[in-house]
Amino acid sequence: MDSFTGSQSYLESRVTVVTGDITKQQVDAIVNAANSSLMGGGGVDGAIHAAGGPSILAECREIRRTQYPDGLPTGEAVLTTGGKLPARFVIHTVGPVWGRAGGRESELLAACYRNSLQLAADHDLRAIAFPAISTGIYGYPREQAAIVASTAIKDFLSRNRTLRKVRLVFYSPGDAAVFVQHQRFEEER
Ligand code: ADP
Repeated sequence: MDSFTGSQSYLESRVTVVTGDITKQQVDAIVNAANSSLMGGGGVDGAIHAAGGPSILAECREIRRTQYPDGLPTGEAVLTTGGKLPARFVIHTVGPVWGRAGGRESELLAACYRNSLQLAADHDLRAIAFPAISTGIYGYPREQAAIVASTAIKDFLSRNRTLRKVRLVFYSPGDAAVFVQHQRFEEER
């Protein structure tokens, strides 16, 4: 498949793959592919802070001050409100930088998905949207990220019933197509 239009769903429609802008998603929480400073950056991070307004950064600053003075560790996740975004909350997680995680890249990327989903469930949220964490500036190969992300989401959803909808938002149809081609949602384990 070399092009992708429309949407694709998995796991009895609990997971949907779409092409679009993460900041426009009307869900309970969107996930931010943040960096450990939590002080904003490029890509998804910049778009979320630009669209959500300064209250998100103020909350991130408070999280740094009270919980993570040295920055949010890779694989961990924290929650702020969504400011002016359609989503009520933003879950900030730090993906691994490809080639800089000492061979723990897949484990840390899986932790991003698992910890973000757990945080959403802890807050009783029903619908969450993810960008393709680490596959931009952080350089994680899209094919391998698809395997890790789909496996982590599938494992979590098999244990948790609070979360009803997980939407995976890709910036380009090509990125969505690569994901669809490499995902492992329906595979027996
Ligand atoms: P990271 O630093 O974790 O690699 P990036 O923000 O650089 O994060 O990129 C992650 C993915 O999100 C990339 O595939 C990029 O194309 C995509 N992306 C960038 N902006 C948006 C957006 N507004 N909505 C959805 N996806 C986006």
